[in-house]
Amino acid sequence: MELEKNLLRYKKISNKILIGVDIGGTLAKFAIVNEKTQLEIENILNSFENMKIIETGNYILHLLLFPTNDFEKEIKPLLNKLFKISPIKEIYATGGGAYKFESLMKQNFKIDFLKNDELISLVEGYIFIKNYSFIYKIEDFDKKIFVPNSDLKYPHISVNIGSGVSILKVNSPYKKDIERVAGSIMGGGTLIGLSKLLIGIDDYNEIINLAQKGNYHNIDLSNEDIYCKNSIKNNNNINKNEIPISSFGKIYDLMTVKKNTFEKEDIAVSLLYMICLHITQIANLCAKKYKIDTIYFFGNFTRSSFAISLLNKSSLIWNKNLNIRFNILDGFLGAVGTLVEKNED
Ligand code: ADP
Repeated sequence: MELEKNLLRYKKISNKILIGVDIGGTLAKFAIVNEKTQLEIENILNSFENMKIIETGNYILHLLLFPTNDFEKEIKPLLNKLFKISPIKEIYATGGGAYKFESLMKQNFKIDFLKNDELISLVEGYIFIKNYSFIYKIEDFDKKIFVPNSDLKYPHISVNIGSGVSILKVNSPYKKDIERVAGSIMGGGTLIGLSKLLIGIDDYNEIINLAQKGNYHNIDLSNEDIYCKNSIKNNNNINKNEIPISSFGKIYDLMTVKKNTFEKEDIAVSLLYMICLHITQIANLCAKKYKIDTIYFFGNFTRSSFAISLLNKSSLIWNKNLNIRFNILDGFLGAVGTLVEKNED
C-alpha cells in the first residue's frame, strides 16, 4: 500500500499505465507503472531481458533501459505497442533528452513530455528508493552486503556516474537540502569513448568483461616500478605497490624498449581503474571538505559488479575510513523520480 501511496502521490493512473523517462547522453531509462491486472502490458514489458521490477499491492513498477540513440530500433516499437493498449497523452520526462526528443515524441505519438528538473527528479528518486530499494556495501573486493536503508547516513556525498559525473552533497532527503558541489567530465562516456579509440570496443559489458581478465600493472606505472619494492611502507591495509601512480605510464617505456602492441584486457582494466581513481579522488576531496564520511555511488556506470569493486577499492585507497554505499537500482533514480514528482509544467 505504501508504494501506491508514494508512487501515486501526485498522479493517478487514468489509462492503465504511467510512464517516466530519464533520457541521458547514453541511455534512456524508463520507469513504467501499471496495474497488475493489465496482463497485455505485463506481457510486453516482461519480454525485456534485464528488466527490474518493484511489486506491491495492485501495481508493478517496471524499470528498463535502452541506448538513447536506439529510438527507432528499440524505443519506438515498445511505445507503439504500449500506446495501442493504453493511449496515454503524456510522459513524465527528465534529463537532457527531455528537451532534445520532445518534438520527435510529438511527431511520432502525439505525446507530450511533462518535464522535470534533473536534480529534483534524482532527489525524488532518492526519497522513493529509501523505502523500496536496497542499499549495499562491498566486502572482500566483490561481496555485496545488503545494509538497512537507514544505514545511508545524512549528510552524505552522492556520486552519480553517467556519461559524465555529478557530485552532490545530500544533507537530508529533502529537495532544499541537496546541492551539486562538484562533477567531472571523466565518466562512463569517457570509458566507452576511449575504449573505442584504444581497443575498438564500445560495448560497456564487453569492456567490463575484458577488464576483468586484464592486469593494469602491464600498462600503469606503480610505486614498485620506480622505487625499490621493499622501500615502500604499506599502511591502511593497502599494498602501496599496487596503486598506480601514472595510468598508462608504462606505455612509453614499453614502446621504446619492448613492443608496441598491448593486450586489450590490460588496456581495458587500466582505463576503467583510471576513471574510478579519478572519480573517487574528487568524491573523497568533497567528503573531506565537508567533513562527511559516507559516499554513495549510483548511475549506470555502476551497473557492473567489477566497476563497483574498483570504485570501492579506489575510494578506500584515498581514505580507508570512508563508508561506501551502492544502490541496487543503479541508474533509475531519475526515471523513478520524474514519475513520482509533482510536475513543473
Ligand atoms: P546518462 O544519463 O548520461 O546516459 P547513465 O547513468 O545512463 O548516464 O550512464 C551511462 C553510462 O553507463 C555509460 O557511459 C556506460 O559507461 C554505462 N553503461 C552501463 N550499461 C550500459 C549499457 N548497456 N549501454 C551503454 N552504457 C552502459
